[in-house]
Amino acid sequence: MTEEINDEEKYQQRSRDLDEETLFVVSQTFKALSDPTRIRILNLLCTEEHSVNDIAESLNLSQSTVSHQLRFLKNLRLVKFRRAGTTLYYSKDDDHVMNLLKQAVEHAAHH
Ligand SMILES: [Zn+2]
Repeated sequence: MTEEINDEEKYQQRSRDLDEETLFVVSQTFKALSDPTRIRILNLLCTEEHSVNDIAESLNLSQSTVSHQLRFLKNLRLVKFRRAGTTLYYSKDDDHVMNLLKQAVEHAAHH
């Protein structure tokens, strides 16, 4: 048996430890990060909260596009909102995924 096969077996052993729920959430997380518009929105919310209007203007996107993507990100609990009158203010809800995003941005910068 070669060293390579041993490593592969070890990898499969670890893979078996991930249950279905975990696999689903992890793949949804990477799905959330796989869209340029969502990446731009998350990057904006990395530091501070913004209203939907604010996000749309900052990123030169339509309100409906922003709202649609924010709902997607909210469902995955990556962003949260608070209401002030008729205005919704969105902010990050998860530092793990923001750290993933920062890592990916830093990775892109040295290529
Ligand atoms: Zn890197």
